[in-house]
Parts: sequence; structure tokens; C-alpha cells
Amino acid sequence: MLPVHQAEQLILSLVHPFNPDHDVEVLDLLKACDRVLAAPIISQLDFPHWDNSAMDGYAVRFADVQTCRPDQPIELEIVEEIPAGYQPQHTIQPGQAARILTGSVMPSGADTVVMQEDTRRQDERVWILTTPKPQAFVRHQGEFYRAGAVLLPAGIMLGAPEIAVLAAAQCASVKVYRRPRVAILSTGSELVGVEQPLQAGQIVDSNQYALAALVAQAGAEPLCLGRVPDEPDQLRAAIVHAITTADIVLSSGGVSVGDYDYVDDILEELGADIAIRAVAMKPGKPLTVATLSDRQFASSEPNPSPVSPTLYFGLPGNPVSALVTFWRLVLPALRKLSGLAQAWQPAFVDARSRQVLRSDGKRETYLWGSVSLENGIYEFSPAGGNHSSGNLINLAQTNSLARLSVGQTQIAVGETVQVVLTQSLV
Ligand code: AMP
Ligand code: MG
Repeated sequence: MLPVHQAEQLILSLVHPFNPDHDVEVLDLLKACDRVLAAPIISQLDFPHWDNSAMDGYAVRFADVQTCRPDQPIELEIVEEIPAGYQPQHTIQPGQAARILTGSVMPSGADTVVMQEDTRRQDERVWILTTPKPQAFVRHQGEFYRAGAVLLPAGIMLGAPEIAVLAAAQCASVKVYRRPRVAILSTGSELVGVEQPLQAGQIVDSNQYALAALVAQAGAEPLCLGRVPDEPDQLRAAIVHAITTADIVLSSGGVSVGDYDYVDDILEELGADIAIRAVAMKPGKPLTVATLSDRQFASSEPNPSPVSPTLYFGLPGNPVSALVTFWRLVLPALRKLSGLAQAWQPAFVDARSRQVLRSDGKRETYLWGSVSLENGIYEFSPAGGNHSSGNLINLAQTNSLARLSVGQTQIAVGETVQVVLTQSLV
């Protein structure tokens, strides 16, 4: 069985990130939040675009005011008012000043701004009461960014600050990577839909919903392909359909060693390269990861990425195992595929455990619970009740997974444990 970090590396090595020439779309800037930038942005504008004032005050020549004191103020003639959006018309000569407001363009001749609070004004005269520093309160053209340099690199996620920068650079539309298409397939003859009456022995297909939510939260497009009974012909047809329509396929169930677990056999029959059959993690031991080239299958569906092979994850059927495996091993693959240049792997942080955490130490163990910030320190409380992969119920209202390494059987109260957030802290 493969250790978790090796499984993660192997999976990442199988992912071909989106191609910046083909796997892109151009979006209106208002629609681009949370998308991945596909090409670097280079602006022909300097930031600031021109020398401007950082204060409400007076634009002056430093040479005129370098000797002034409150008891010996220097008197200047105001030759112009420069409100926002106004292009100055005068060159400031010795003995002159311009009234200027925050953000307004500096007039030529002036090199320094004296803030209003350090002046006294009467009609068209102003007295400068204290000597400013040379060039005080002037934001110089190009001080923050020089035209022609890279303003934003490709491969970053666009959030509000990046959208603001793009707007300021007058990028009304922006080239982003398309969303990955992720097919979701539930296998198991016992499965029924949420709307169907439940007979004895049947299980509601919660994985379809859970995985669709996880895929959407990851910024990808879920393709919900429904349920397939444990019947090889139907399963084969469903898998072929899934791999010819999606970039990544997530099936759940049918990858253990039971009599009705057909997924691996079918993948082999279809010529898949099976990279992983099991990972030493708990929950989540049965996991099949394979790549399939879909060129051999005729399909009426438009293939989103005809060159790269499709990545197939046969997730365990247990609902908790399916979610934990997604967070730990599917999400990094999805992030790399989506064109993000870095930060594919989950970020583990140190937390203090509020309770004793136990594991049998045989496999890397994940316990679900809640992280909170107490006086600036993360604290982890495991969910109450049974941490069995069959118990989905206490996974709700948790926001994190704690990790116990192989060989680590206990973490005492107050000891440090590594946790990864599965939901944002509120
Ligand atoms: P399997 O991996 O197919 O052996 O399934 C393991 C357990 O997970 C069984 O109890 C299944 O009934 C359950 N299970 C499998 N698929 C799903 C699903 N889509 N939704 C909820 N539970 C499932
Ligand atoms: Mg099954």
C-alpha cells in the first residue's frame, strides 16, 4: 500500500495542466472572480499614471519653503486650483503655489506638497508654517508599477484585489482557464436517489451530492452522471461515457475486494494505466487512480481535452472515505489541472488538540473535527461520536481534518497536531 505523500506525488505527476492556448475562455471582468488567469497581464500604463498629490494642501517648490518656521512663515501666491480630474495649466514659478487636492495632478514646477494643516490661507495668498520634507506627499508616476512589466502573472486565482488591479489597468475582459469538467458516477446496486422511497437494504446515493458540492467548491464543473448498478456491462458503458466527456472522472464504490467490485477489472479491460490501487490512509484505503486515453472510444460528446488522457479516481464507496479522499488526494490534482501555478497541496497548520486523539498507527489517519482560533492559536476538537468511515453524520458541521502519521498512536490533550481546513474558518 502506498504512503499518502507518495500517492499525492504520483497523482500530481499524472496531471497535465490545462493548455494556455486551448483550455481557455475570455470572460467579462465582472465574471472572472475565482477563476485562474491564463496569460500574464502587461499594462501600457504607469501606476500612478502621473505625479499626483497624496494630500489636500498646496503644491510648492521646495526651494521656496526650505527655511520657513511658524514664527517666520513664507508667503506664496496661489496661481491655480487643481481639483480631481483637472489638468494643471500653470507652471509654478518661484514665490508661487497651487491649491491641490488628494489624487490631483502635480503642476509642473512644483515638487512638494504641504499639507493644508501646515498652512494658513487668505484669499489668493498662502503662508507655509513648517518646512516640509523635499518631495513630501508626492506620488510619483510609475512608483508602484512601470508600464511594460508583468502586472499579474498567469496561473493565479483572481480575487477581489486582482480584479481591482485588472479594472485599473482597463482590462474589460480577461483570458482565464476554463473550468475543469468532472464526471461523477455512483456505483452500487443498493443505491437509490434522494427522491425514491427507501426499501430495506437500500442506501441513498449521498456521494453524488457530496462530490458535486466538492467539485463546485473547487471551481470545477460537476457532471452528475447518476447511479450505476454493480453490473459489468452497464458499468463499462457508464465509465466509457464518463471518460469521453470529462477531464477527471470520480466514481465511488466498487473498488474494494468484494465480489461485486468491478471497477478495476473494467478499467484494465479498457486499457487504463492503473497507477494506484490502495493508499495507506484511514479512512480511504481502497482507492484506484488510473489514466485512460479516450482516443479509442467513439463519442458523440465533444471531448473537452482530446490530447491529455483522462484521470480516473475510483473512490471508496463509504461516504466519509469518499469525502476525505477527495480533500486529501483529488483536490491537489484538480488544482494542478486547473492551471494554478502553485499551492496544489493542502496546507497543514499546527493546532493544539483539545482532546486525546487516537489511531492504530498502521495507516495515516484523519480525524474530522473543528478548528477554532483561541487567543491567536488554532485549537482542534474532534467531532463527537464514532470516527468510523461508515458514520457520515458527525462529519457535518466540522471544518477540518487532523492528521496522525503512521506509527503515531496517540496525541495527548494540549499537544500539537497537524490539521487542514476543509471549510473556511468563520
Ligand atoms: P463499496 O466501496 O462499494 O464497497 O461501498 C462501501 C459502502 O459505502 C457500502 O456500505 C455502500 O453502500 C456505501 N456506498 C457506496 N456508494 C455510496 C454512495 N454513492 N452514497 C452513499 N453510500 C455509498
Ligand atoms: Mg459497492
